Amino acid sequence: MHLRYGFRLYPTPGQRIALARAFGCARVVFNDAIAARREAHEAGVNAPTMSELSRRLITDAKQTSERGWLVGVSAVVLQQALRDADRAYKNFFDALSARRAGRRVGEPRFKSKRDGRQAVRFTANARWSVTVDNKLRLPKIGDVPVRWSRVLPSVPSSVTVVKDAAGRYFASFVVEVNPEPKRYEAPEIGVDLGLEHFVVLSDGRKINAPRFLRRAETKLKRAQRDLSRKQKCSRNRDKARAKVARAHARVADARRDFHHQLSTQLIRENQAIAMEDLAVFGLARTRLAKSVHDAGWASFVAMLDYKAALYGRKMVRIGRFEPTSQICSLCDVKDGPKPLHVRVWQCQGCGVWLDRDVNAAVNVAKAAGLAVTACGAQVRPEPVRAQRGEAGTHRSDLASVDVHIAGRSRNHRSSSR
Ligand SMILES: [Zn+2]
Repeated sequence: MHLRYGFRLYPTPGQRIALARAFGCARVVFNDAIAARREAHEAGVNAPTMSELSRRLITDAKQTSERGWLVGVSAVVLQQALRDADRAYKNFFDALSARRAGRRVGEPRFKSKRDGRQAVRFTANARWSVTVDNKLRLPKIGDVPVRWSRVLPSVPSSVTVVKDAAGRYFASFVVEVNPEPKRYEAPEIGVDLGLEHFVVLSDGRKINAPRFLRRAETKLKRAQRDLSRKQKCSRNRDKARAKVARAHARVADARRDFHHQLSTQLIRENQAIAMEDLAVFGLARTRLAKSVHDAGWASFVAMLDYKAALYGRKMVRIGRFEPTSQICSLCDVKDGPKPLHVRVWQCQGCGVWLDRDVNAAVNVAKAAGLAVTACGAQVRPEPVRAQRGEAGTHRSDLASVDVHIAGRSRNHRSSSR
């Protein structure tokens, strides 16, 4: 399988100028390619081939006065920009023919200098390398200092250099990783993606985004509000925009850290993980409330997927199934829908007290055929205390939760062969 590894780059002022030139040239070639495709489409002729585009937009363009500066950039970078434009059109046509439900299909757009993210890709042909003093050697850029925060598991063939909206530089490598299945007896768990909590587990744990992430999100909101109040085209607006970009980057980093931590923990602890299919789940929830977690779940689930593949764990997706809040996870009695504010209720069939979110997580696991016990959904009849929602990876401070974690593991053992 392929994994992406990112490392922070610290280009010198001269290298920044060279990189800006590379971003600019790649963007121009990309836009020229998009324009050529559109022209061909409007004229009703076949789309130009890659080699045609390469000759017209790179080789010939270098001889002209208005594109002569293309010679200042590695030819491989320009070729990759053509390939990106081609890929963008392929994706567009694929999406058009597939017409995935609910997904809007847009024609590839022109790139702008104003875009937050700028990128260029160097392939093996570009003869990029890592120098003996661990710098990243890029053609026509120079030897760029890198902070190697991790060890690459194998030698990558290409590197993408990215400048993000906050003005930071990264080298991004795609490397081939061999999955190492570690098979040992571990429990199986159901995960409910909640509205109040980031996730709720069938063993009773409720996990919230950690405080540092929520604080960063608050700061981002404030920065965005400030920006919207600034006058257009003013110096202060540019400053406010830079501030928003930095706040965005901090939120994104904090969120990624949280997702990595939590997904690693769940994969390490469990042999199989069941959750609702995000597509189905999304449709079901839009009517209820737009949750702040919406953006986060997709990337979190993607991490669970690749870590599961890497460590020989099983991810089980549940499609449409019975509304989880209507069914008792212990006795399967269906006692009707309950309004959202009802967090705890007593089952009319067996008399057990059920926590809405934990009950849902257990039902998810059961629908996936996992060996979790319904007992996990029991709560005491006292009203549920408000969650302080501290750092997600620890078990919640609800006393009743601890009680049924203990109950669950005992039951789990007796129920699994
Ligand atoms: Zn019941």
